[in-house]
Order: sequence, then structure tokens, then C-alpha cells
Amino acid sequence: MDQSDWYSNAQKYWTSVQPTVNGMLGGFATVDPIDVKGSLNFIDEFVHGVRGVNNVMRQEPVISNKYACDCGAGIGRVTKNFLLRVPFQHVDLVEQAPNFVQQAKESYLRNEINQGTVKDVKCQGLQDFCPNPGKYDLIWCQWVLGHLTDDDLIGFFKRCMKGLKPHGLIGIKENNSSKDYVVDEEDSSVTRPNDALKRLYADAGLEVIKEEVQQGLPAGLFTVRMYMLRPIQSS
Ligand code: SAH
Repeated sequence: MDQSDWYSNAQKYWTSVQPTVNGMLGGFATVDPIDVKGSLNFIDEFVHGVRGVNNVMRQEPVISNKYACDCGAGIGRVTKNFLLRVPFQHVDLVEQAPNFVQQAKESYLRNEINQGTVKDVKCQGLQDFCPNPGKYDLIWCQWVLGHLTDDDLIGFFKRCMKGLKPHGLIGIKENNSSKDYVVDEEDSSVTRPNDALKRLYADAGLEVIKEEVQQGLPAGLFTVRMYMLRPIQSS
């Protein structure tokens, strides 16, 4: 499959999927609360710091909770159930499928848009997405990066790094295969093993500052890992 077929095939696949939480999760809607809880726990120290005895701050927060971006957002499940519960004050979304963007704007996130917490809902592939420089505290990518080729993924990360505020972070939550790349021709995606993902982060100039396996998922699914990344700091 050549590269343009790869992306148009994925688009065709997702455009045929129901614009619901169940659709976003490949029929595993029951996973939503487990996933959300895991993500909230994972990110907590970075936004709220760590407190010890007598509520004394042991570790300061790394980022403020002002502005997050949800990449490969679908109808906005991650925005609504996770990012706005952190809570981030503002969230932008990027999603390639027009029917999901429409559902987000007209229904699923309508209240949040009217309240002004959800700002920009952009209909674009991540292979083309270029955030405004210095805009975000956090860029979160969940269950989408398998749709990008390795080269496009590195390019995407490099543009995202420029889209972060100073000290800003990139959060990733993706399936892991156990050894080799697992290709799914139906939806044009690859599942990468943990070490391959980490090599790609490093190639882009990102370092992993926290990594955790999502617990409590139904048996038979891929391992799901969360990663917190920051631009490698030159000393
Ligand atoms: N992250 C959401 C949606 C997961 S489903 C959640 O966890 O609920 C995967 C999503 O990635 C779909 O909405 C699909 O349209 C989107 N997607 C696939 N390829 C993409 C690409 N190249 N750029 C942006 N989004 C893409």
C-alpha cells in the first residue's frame, strides 16, 4: 500500500464507524471508565504535584492546567471524560474524520463548546497538523499513533514539541504489540512494540519521564501503555 492509500484507507474505515463512545473503542465501551481512571491517575502528579505528610508539597507540578490538545480525538471521548476532568481549562481537538468532528461540534461536546472550555475542533490528519508555537501545556495522543507511518510520526512529534509551552509535555496512550509491528490492513494501522515506540520518541528528540501499563482491561486485548514525554533537555 502506498502512503496516500494508507491514509485514505484509514479515513474510509473510520468514516464508516458509528460516532459513539462504543465506536471510538472498537465495541469495548465498558473500557471507557477504566481507561479514564488510569489516565487521571497517571497525569495527576504532573498537574497537581505530589503531597507528602501534613499535605506538604513534595514535588511541584510540572505543567499548568490551562490548555491541552487532544490528538486523534474522534468524537471527543478523551476530552470530555479525561482532559476536562483533570481539569484542563481549555482543550482543542484534532481529528481527521469529518463525521466525528461534526458529532463533536453538534452534539457530544456542544455544551463544552458553548461554555468555552472546548475551543478549536480541527478536521485534519496528524500527519499534517502543525500546532501554533508555544500554545499547549499538554498534547495528548490516544489510540491514534498507529495510523501514522514512522517518518510521519517523527515529523508530527517535532512539530508538537514546538507547540508546547516551556515545560510542556506530550502524553501518549497506545496499544503495544509483544514483539514485531502488527499491521491491520482493515483500518490501516500498525501496533508497535514498546521498544520501537521508544526508539521513535528518541529519534524525535523526546525522552520518557514516566511510563505505565494500564491495568484492569479485559483479557485478550493488546497491552496498553501510557508514556509522559518531554523534549530532551540539552545540558
Ligand atoms: N482517541 C479517541 C479516538 C480513538 S479511535 C479515543 O480514545 O476515544 C481512533 C481515531 O483516530 C479515530 O477518530 C480516527 O478517525 C482517528 N484517526 C485515524 N487516523 C488519523 C490521522 N492520520 N490523523 C488524525 N486522526 C486520525
